[in-house]
Amino acid sequence: MTSSGDALPGDPFRCSVCGYRLDTPPWGIDGKNPTFDFCPCCGVQFGYQDCLQAAVEKQRARWLAGGARWSEPSEMPADWNLEEQLRYVNRGSDPSDA
Ligand SMILES: [Zn+2]
Repeated sequence: MTSSGDALPGDPFRCSVCGYRLDTPPWGIDGKNPTFDFCPCCGVQFGYQDCLQAAVEKQRARWLAGGARWSEPSEMPADWNLEEQLRYVNRGSDPSDA
């Protein structure tokens, strides 16, 4: 049984831009205290470049357009799968952007 997209819950440990799961929740466990760290995957700075959904979408588009390169390649899992990871990002509420 597979659920389509929307069944994936918001995970506080995931980067909202690229969907990478971090060791520390980028916005704190309550979602209100950004770490201001950088995502090792897409390189976004939490609490700064991901404050607004529009900014998140823009960062993601830029990251994907650039080839979805890792900001910290040494952190990249050997079995990393971009498509799989992108299933965890909120694709936004503006379909006209697609
Ligand atoms: Zn990221």
